Amino acid sequence: PPYPILLEGVVQHGFGRGSKDLGCPTANLPDESLPDMVAAVKPGVYYGYAQVLPLEGQKSRLRPEDHQVWPMVMSLGWNPFYKNERMTAEIHIMHEFSDDFYGYNMRALVLGYIRPELDYTSREALIEDIEIDKKVALASLVRPGYKYTSDPFFSNHD
Ligand code: ADP
Ligand code: MG
Repeated sequence: PPYPILLEGVVQHGFGRGSKDLGCPTANLPDESLPDMVAAVKPGVYYGYAQVLPLEGQKSRLRPEDHQVWPMVMSLGWNPFYKNERMTAEIHIMHEFSDDFYGYNMRALVLGYIRPELDYTSREALIEDIEIDKKVALASLVRPGYKYTSDPFFSNHD
């Protein structure tokens, strides 16, 4: 697929699959926000950058630094709720936010693929893989040519 892939939408409630318990909350983009081309992309774990912003004309409850552009890992999979006919994008942003940001606008710039989605038999194996994904993402993003934090797709927000 042609990178970067740009995604944007209002953060929705997910299935609450306890990702916060895993130390890895994932913010869900609405399925309608995923361009058709995303359906042609293979499911799996991707990396890139993301930014959370208040909706037009709304005041933010978050801190200024929460609105910066941060590294992210994204799980792209088939949504069982829609009989696996639609994809779902869940994004973990590598930043400690001061609060939840449901209802905020989220932009994501996807730069590459890490691995396929696996069926985990143990919670420990899943947590271990997520930790590796984060390291792979951070290592990938420091390479020259991956400087997208000032991309015009993102907003200068203070
Ligand atoms: P849900 O099933 O509703 O997606 P999660 O346990 O996955 O529940 O939590 C996701 C929510 O956590 C996001 O929608 C967001 O509001 C909040 N959140 C807080 N910190 C982060 C973060 N670093 N990355 C992603 N989401 C975060
Ligand atoms: Mg989630």
